[in-house]
Amino acid sequence: MTDGTGLKNRGHTHADVDERRGAVEQFTGADLEKISKYCFRAEDAEHNIENMIGAVQMPLGFAGPLKVEGEYAEGEFLVPLATTEGALVASISRGMSVITAAGGARTKVFSDCMTRAPVLRVDGLAHACRVIQWIDAHEDDIKAAAASTTKHGRLVRIEKFPTGRALYLRLSFETGDAMGMNMATIASEAACRVIEEATGAVMVSVSGNLCSDKKPAAVNMIEGRGKTVVAEALIPKDLVESKLHTTTALIVETNVRKNFVGSSLAGTLGANAHAANMVAAFYIATGQDPAQVVGGSMTLTDCEDVGGDLYISVRMPAVELGTVGGGTGLPCQREALEMMGCKGEGKARKLAEILAGTVLAGELSTLAAQAAGQLGRAHAQLGRNKA
Ligand code: NAP
Repeated sequence: MTDGTGLKNRGHTHADVDERRGAVEQFTGADLEKISKYCFRAEDAEHNIENMIGAVQMPLGFAGPLKVEGEYAEGEFLVPLATTEGALVASISRGMSVITAAGGARTKVFSDCMTRAPVLRVDGLAHACRVIQWIDAHEDDIKAAAASTTKHGRLVRIEKFPTGRALYLRLSFETGDAMGMNMATIASEAACRVIEEATGAVMVSVSGNLCSDKKPAAVNMIEGRGKTVVAEALIPKDLVESKLHTTTALIVETNVRKNFVGSSLAGTLGANAHAANMVAAFYIATGQDPAQVVGGSMTLTDCEDVGGDLYISVRMPAVELGTVGGGTGLPCQREALEMMGCKGEGKARKLAEILAGTVLAGELSTLAAQAAGQLGRAHAQLGRNKA
């Protein structure tokens, strides 16, 4: 098969990729020598990319050790982070060293469900009510249809949002160790087919955006999407002063004025210093879908003065990640997961807890740097290309 340029876009052997890249070089006049060099087998990426012509590489660093005392993550971890933002890894590492010296980050996964929200066309309100009644009376049949498409996925909740001539269903799935978006989408289509046949409602789209995937959304902040995770730490006053060169009072004030008041003025969803930075670097390193950094960006960071010590927490309502499926099986990403003992089955919640500890560390370090007036200096020293 070829696309509009006449380039062959099927085939995933190394030779197919070389041939396709050669055609792209000819078409564009660009030399793609660096893109031609990669360490995995082209076939390994067959389910991750179409029209493959090579790979781009990102610098990978580590931060840590970070001590985590969670339900699933327990111990000290070196965290792989892929970024091009100089100073980021150093800052996260500084936060981790303070948290670890203070006894570690305590973490907890509060909910774990991936959502898909199909939109159905109905004739009007009366029809919408009949469809809702049918769904309520046949939940087991709908769940069975969903279950027929997956071994690890399980439809656990069906919420209904009628709007007139449309009915939105927000379907929540347990997805095992997978992030679960493909799984939930395929299962949602099967569930909707059963509803369509019995009620005459018509599925307009398997995603009616109430899911809500890859868009900042209040529904995800309130109800959660993927994993909802909280991390906390208590940093003794002397550590705040000796290692972060500021005071608890100044960090708390920075958090209130910046993360709470400033974020409300700006109308952001979530209130944090730069949670998306940690989430993006972590997701890219470990083979997650980078577009789902959006969910991580809705983190709420809270700080309190507890008798002079600094209490800090992050609530992450929408951590959409997995340790199987998607890009997690690619060789480099699998090695990055292995660094944290998070490769494969039974590790997704552990990974989510390590991420929450990493975000906590990044928030702590950046809030402290801003409280101490050091942020610009650190970026000037570490993050600027020297002429
Ligand atoms: P997936 O790779 O599509 O599916 C996971 C696979 O792993 C399933 O075949 C599942 O089998 C199997 N599996 C084996 N052991 C498992 C375990 N312990 N827990 C869970 N599953 C296990 O991955 P996904 O997480 O569903 O979807 C992720 C991909 O979706 C990413 O590439 C992402 O970019 C993409 N994505 C898709 C959409 C969409 O609308 N479709 C939206 C956003 C992102 P069973 O199903 O039989 O259990």
